[in-house]
Amino acid sequence: MNRRTRDSDFERCTFCEKAKDQVQSLIAGPPGIYICNECIELCNTILFEEAHIRTGTPPVKEEPLSLPDRLPFPKEIKEHLGTYVIGQEHAKKVISVAVYNHYKRLISGHRIKEHKNVKLEKSNILLIGPTGSGKTLLAKTLAEFLQVPFAITDATPLTEAGYVGEDVENIILRLVHSANFNIENAQKGIIYIDEIDKIARSDHNVSITRDVSGEGVQQALLKILEGTVANVPPQGGRKHPEQNYLQVDTSDILFIVGGTFTGMEDIIRKRVGKDVIGFGRDRLQSEEDGRPAVRNAKAANAGGDEEDILPLVDSEDLIEFGLIPEFVGRLAVIATLDPLSENDLVRVMMEPVNAIIKQFMAYFEMEDCVLEFRKDALREIAAQAHRKKTGVRALRSILENLLLDVAYNLPGKGPGKRYVVTPGFVKGETPIKVLPIKKKKKSAPPKRETA
Ligand code: ADP
Repeated sequence: MNRRTRDSDFERCTFCEKAKDQVQSLIAGPPGIYICNECIELCNTILFEEAHIRTGTPPVKEEPLSLPDRLPFPKEIKEHLGTYVIGQEHAKKVISVAVYNHYKRLISGHRIKEHKNVKLEKSNILLIGPTGSGKTLLAKTLAEFLQVPFAITDATPLTEAGYVGEDVENIILRLVHSANFNIENAQKGIIYIDEIDKIARSDHNVSITRDVSGEGVQQALLKILEGTVANVPPQGGRKHPEQNYLQVDTSDILFIVGGTFTGMEDIIRKRVGKDVIGFGRDRLQSEEDGRPAVRNAKAANAGGDEEDILPLVDSEDLIEFGLIPEFVGRLAVIATLDPLSENDLVRVMMEPVNAIIKQFMAYFEMEDCVLEFRKDALREIAAQAHRKKTGVRALRSILENLLLDVAYNLPGKGPGKRYVVTPGFVKGETPIKVLPIKKKKKSAPPKRETA
């Protein structure tokens, strides 16, 4: 038996000291010596840079990023988001404006950062919404559209291990990676931090399992969110004195943070329940953009439905939830996402450019067959996914299970067949319908006009 299997405590990267479960893979060398995938990546980068120093060519792998002279207008940004993200109209609008302003401020340099003595601070965005409602998708689609470096990260490891946890600077390291170590480009990127609600202070919180160190992490995040020159350890992990750091200015990095904030509805209801009797009602009713303002007020009064009350969230509620006021102050823009309805789920399956059923259809096409879904079958799939309450996440697994046997047998069955998914098939009551492919009718040749 080797040492690795004898004592799992020794299964740490010898370089960055991360444990086996903190990295993707850990490779064993001589007994007791390990290296993790992250350190290997870093070594590659060092070798790459050294090779360039030797040959005298600059180590930057990519051209500096140049943002376009004319930024897409908020309307155009929203339209683009719409090609991937179904529903969430209000969130899309809020994000489009915030992102436009952020990059406008960035392109125009200091002239606009201080416009007529008004200091324009960057507007980091907070997304609140149920799991699988499109928070990450929105951030990712945005970064792709703007062609800026993008990193997705999770706030949980920042709390999990308390003092021996990850430094917040590691978040920036991910962005630097995504910019191929071009610091200048990384400084214009977007970082999405998921599960931000998990770093809420535990004393205010509904969950008794929440980490007490949340406040310290919020303090640390606060600095990078508002803009600082962060010392980023190039190999990740903990910082230590002898290390060389990458200096990254976070002033122009757009942070989008997201979370489900379970229990937030109760906090809002408690506050709005009082408000709505007085001035609050006017505020609610002045909401535009199709938000159900009056319904909101009713829901609040009736102690009603959670889907309606979340859009009323404000900074006071976030503080009550356990975020520290300074941290909340750095999240200038708040957008809430709605749980996707059955109808939305049908649209998610059909409409986005890379919609799930389009992907399945493509596989059938490669076998010279056709896969068709009846509309009522899609509705049945959506209903099943909706019951699982994991948003869109359930759709793919339902579809994969459903089509597993068909996909298994498809290659041997020969071309020219049309597979039709019916509600009966979705419910497991009938087999999939197999028909010959309809021949396209030849259009009649145009008649000649005779004189
Ligand atoms: P969240 O971050 O809110 O938990 P994600 O954005 O990670 O959810 O979504 C999970 C999956 O569901 C992704 O594959 C995403 O493409 C899809 N998805 C979620 N919401 C939507 C939506 N509104 N429109 C289209 N696809 C969606």
